[in-house]
Amino acid sequence: MIPVTKTYLPDINQYKDYIDKIYETGWLTNNGDLVRKLELKLKEYLGVKNIVLVSNGTVALNIAYKLLGLENEVITTPFSFVATTSSMVWQGLKPVFVDINKNDYNIDANRIEKKITEYTTGIVPVHVFGNACDVEQIEEIAKKHNLKVIYDASHCFGVKYKSKSILNYGDISTISFHSTKLFHTIEGGALIINNDELYEKAKRMINFGFCANGYIEEIGINAKMNEFQAAMGLCVLSDIDKISSRRKEKYEYYIKKLENIDLISFQELNKSSHINYSYLPIVFKDSETMLTTLKNMNNEDIFPRRYFYPSLNKLNYIHCNEVMPNSEDISERILCLPLYDSLKNMDIDKIVEIIKRSSIYSIRKSRCISMEV
Ligand SMILES: *Cc1c(COP(=O)(O)O)cnc(C)c1O
Repeated sequence: MIPVTKTYLPDINQYKDYIDKIYETGWLTNNGDLVRKLELKLKEYLGVKNIVLVSNGTVALNIAYKLLGLENEVITTPFSFVATTSSMVWQGLKPVFVDINKNDYNIDANRIEKKITEYTTGIVPVHVFGNACDVEQIEEIAKKHNLKVIYDASHCFGVKYKSKSILNYGDISTISFHSTKLFHTIEGGALIINNDELYEKAKRMINFGFCANGYIEEIGINAKMNEFQAAMGLCVLSDIDKISSRRKEKYEYYIKKLENIDLISFQELNKSSHINYSYLPIVFKDSETMLTTLKNMNNEDIFPRRYFYPSLNKLNYIHCNEVMPNSEDISERILCLPLYDSLKNMDIDKIVEIIKRSSIYSIRKSRCISMEV
């Protein structure tokens, strides 16, 4: 079976050494040694000033909205994982969608201003598949209209923009360390916060509102990362360069083979940035070809994923009656192909063959239809 991704499991003895330490100290959670150690290492590896580790990426988004006091309307993208939007609704915010660019699949910054009203309090863009948004234009718009910016940077582990971490953009960037992501802590996530006061507030907020002196200053929640999660993170982090370079090899091997196929297209990448090889999305010429390819792959025990489908404006609990032409169109034609460090070139060959076969079938079929007409 070839899944879309396989979680990287580090050497079990390395993990056991950390678990032994947890057993020795009896300290399982509440800002333990391993969480603090992971925080320091991540700050250095990612090149960020302040990082707060939390139990998952969805709670990181929820906390970011609370920290910045977002209310009423928030501008966001319809082309993302459901958590970007569902977390807003969970916090009583109204997501206001702005369609994506059809080439890079990120929010179209040129259309943001038209959607700003007196009720807008923030913008939540997503660097889709780790491909940087137009951060400069978004910053300019936010300044002009006095809006907060939170980047859902869940896909951006290690991504640099103009040779600095992309995570430094916006008032807050959030990231996910779920097992399906490039770097993981089983479940986990983080907030990257430039402002020091806001950073201190975040540390209280994830721990019921407790201050360092034990006094409860404000409302909080429990969003703490535990020591077992941090132990996994420390192990995965020590192998991250190896994981990344293997993924890059697989990615490049795929692209070389896929480039010759006319009927698929790729995400246009930001030239000031680079991706981290977490995802390999391809877009088919139409939905039917995508579905045929998917079925042909499933028949051979290969499971690419329809990331992201559906377009989030179509969620039944959103009650959005606006059409998002680009997002809806891409979401109907896109597949993320299997990509992980232990994927074999032989498997890639097989996947590419199926894509070729399915696409050729689809050309023949459309020719027949046009001849009938
Ligand atoms: C994975 C993901 C999340 C949610 O993160 P979890 O750690 O699974 O809660 C949010 N947004 C995007 C874009 C994601 O891909």
